[in-house]
Amino acid sequence: MHGCNKLGKKLALEIPEQEIYHFLQASKRRQLLWTIAFLGAAIAILSGLRMYMLGAPNSLMIGPAALLGLTALFFAVKKGFSTQYASVMVLTIFTGMLFLLGAMSGGVDGPIIATAPFIPLLAVLIHSRIAGVICAVIASVIVLGFAIAPLMGIELTTVHYSSDQRSIARAGFILAFIIASTLIAVHHAGLRDAMAASIWQHANKDHLTGLPNRRKIDSTLEREIKRASRYKTPLSILLLDIDNFKQYNDVKGHLMGDTCLQTIAQKLDEHVKRPGDLLGRFGGEEFVIFASYEDNSEIRNRLESFRKHVEKSCSVCGEHDVHLTISIGLATGVPGPDDSPAEFLRQADQALYQAKQNGRNRLEARSVGS
Ligand code: GH3
Ligand code: MG
Ligand code: MG
Repeated sequence: MHGCNKLGKKLALEIPEQEIYHFLQASKRRQLLWTIAFLGAAIAILSGLRMYMLGAPNSLMIGPAALLGLTALFFAVKKGFSTQYASVMVLTIFTGMLFLLGAMSGGVDGPIIATAPFIPLLAVLIHSRIAGVICAVIASVIVLGFAIAPLMGIELTTVHYSSDQRSIARAGFILAFIIASTLIAVHHAGLRDAMAASIWQHANKDHLTGLPNRRKIDSTLEREIKRASRYKTPLSILLLDIDNFKQYNDVKGHLMGDTCLQTIAQKLDEHVKRPGDLLGRFGGEEFVIFASYEDNSEIRNRLESFRKHVEKSCSVCGEHDVHLTISIGLATGVPGPDDSPAEFLRQADQALYQAKQNGRNRLEARSVGS
């Protein structure tokens, strides 16, 4: 039974909600770290370019100060600092930079203002939709303020660049932010795709046994019947039910019952793994198998040998006080154009019922279709 418990623990860790939650948290942290790194690199390059090419005076230390702030945040997030607070701080640093550097470098005519449209997008990506709207309002107010200030006689530019210098700075800013925003967006799209794939996988998986669940079985059965009908190939559907499982639960408890279901699922998976086989949990203590072969006795023999294995082996789940066996109902045949998945399942269920009626621990078969 020790082996059963170990398997139970391993599978218990795969509870989808927990897995998705941890995946999301880890991804958010990683995303934020990359975002800070891309922004930091853009700001470092621009500050260097500005000082080197334009000989900007040291009074404008806002770029390096922002870079220092981002570096500190990067290491804080790495050490576990809240991603929610950290993303607000990134946005604050960025908006502050837009305002201060923007004002000092010529307002709407200066190089910095070109980065304004990027801020609301960044806010949506690293924080939330509402943060995006707030940042859009703030960025718009800053841009409008810069546009109105000269009309009111307020001199924004403290550094007077030549028009060549201004063009170089503007091109530098725009290029750096094309690169940074593309990298950030590509990274976030990667997270979205990975999450969609993970959720899709979990939506089709039974979380106790890790097998395909009823939803996956229904969609696959529909497709398999159509395919078998079109190519006139025989299809087998097997329903496998644990005998007297209620009694097993009553004697051993529900947790042991769960572990037993996991062990049966794993052993069954080892038996049914040829290409074209599909094994799933049909519900409760019932499993379903689809198989398409020229010779259907193959799957029948394999399931018979599995039934005997369960009957004989106490290592599956049974112990001296409970004798564990399984019953199997098999529906087999070439589906006609009018045969529905429900008809195949109904026949397999009837065969299973027959197996129970005939004393359990056996396989009964029925034919379907033409
Ligand atoms: P039969 O031989 O006629 O199939 O008898 P049975 O007792 O197996 O069938 P019944 O339908 O009366 O009871 C099925 C039992 O399976 C009852 C239920 O508690 C148990 N069961 C269903 N799903 C789970 C599960 O996920 N975990 C556990 N531990 N038990 C389950
Ligand atoms: Mg049952
Ligand atoms: Mg049962």
